Amino acid sequence: MNNIYNFSAGPAMLPKKVMVQIKKDFLNWNNLGISVLELSHRNEYFFSFFKETKNNLKKLLFIPNNYEIIFCHGGARGQFSAIPMNLVQKNDKSDYFCSGFWSYYAAEEAKKYCSPNIIDITQEIDEQKSLIPMQNWPIHSHSEYIHYCPNETIEGIAIFEEPQFEKNKIIIGDFSSTILSQQINIQNYHLIYASAQKNIGIPGLTVVIINKELLKYRKNIVPSILDYNTLYMTQSMFNTPATFSWYVAGLMLEWLIESGGIKTIEKKNKKKALYLYDFIDKTDFYNNNIDKQYRSNMNIPFFIKKQNLTNLFLKKAEENNLFGLKGHNLIGGLRASLYNAMPLKGVKKLVDFMYQFEIDHR
Ligand SMILES: *Cc1c(COP(=O)(O)O)cnc(C)c1O
Repeated sequence: MNNIYNFSAGPAMLPKKVMVQIKKDFLNWNNLGISVLELSHRNEYFFSFFKETKNNLKKLLFIPNNYEIIFCHGGARGQFSAIPMNLVQKNDKSDYFCSGFWSYYAAEEAKKYCSPNIIDITQEIDEQKSLIPMQNWPIHSHSEYIHYCPNETIEGIAIFEEPQFEKNKIIIGDFSSTILSQQINIQNYHLIYASAQKNIGIPGLTVVIINKELLKYRKNIVPSILDYNTLYMTQSMFNTPATFSWYVAGLMLEWLIESGGIKTIEKKNKKKALYLYDFIDKTDFYNNNIDKQYRSNMNIPFFIKKQNLTNLFLKKAEENNLFGLKGHNLIGGLRASLYNAMPLKGVKKLVDFMYQFEIDHR
């Protein structure tokens, strides 16, 4: 297990230290004599662990006091429904700025509950995939909120700018594949959400960080399990939470704090991504066609120009303990996801392998 590197887009690699701790707690959590799997969410130790987890998240992301952290079920896709259900009425408009598959999926789902303006912000410049800069996004004055995705996990296209629109516009971001990887200013958003299986831990938990103002929106038809107000009032324990996923998230946040916090991990993440992009740009054998200023630090799709070599690449990579490099089915090719848990050493090993593969198959 020591030298396997998992580049999967999610569920994704966990730090070794976290996995060793899970193994330990599996039989006896916190010296209570029972497994963490058997633990009730009403257990006082579990509850204080949960409070600590929320506090750690607050510290790491500098979440101001006028925001609440809610732990939800249903993944990021659950939020695609929860957001319009909680915030708008059927005939209301909302702006969905789309830079890739996930932001489109969010907009498609919203059609069931409101009337979204679906705005394509992609553009092609010199055969590269690029985006329209945020200051040129056409915002509709009558839309109730703006939704976008700062890191498109499938295409590897990222928006690093933060929104600075009119103060009264509600701004919502799908941070599933970028939360905790870089510093962000929470106050530029009214709601951000992320499913856990990328940078927070394992599937089963979705984190919502919401400005308290939005908790005042109350609609009777929202299923209680998706209702922000209900979840807030019940401290995210309206029904039985995914206790194990919450626990893993707690360990991940402790690990991140020990690793120096977001500022430190952001530097490491940039270095990792640059190392791989630099190599890809130097060869004619591989390529990545995203405009440099929008390249994701988390998900790096790339292609072998001789496409018939892709399957052989994947097979050889696995023989070299490099896992999860297959590109998403929707775009094919290859993809390396470099979430927080991936060390620079893993990226170097990948690049060494890519270099050798190129020599062997040029
Ligand atoms: C993974 C991902 C999703 C989907 O998450 P689920 O938990 O499977 O619903 C949505 N948006 C983005 C940006 C993602 O990376």
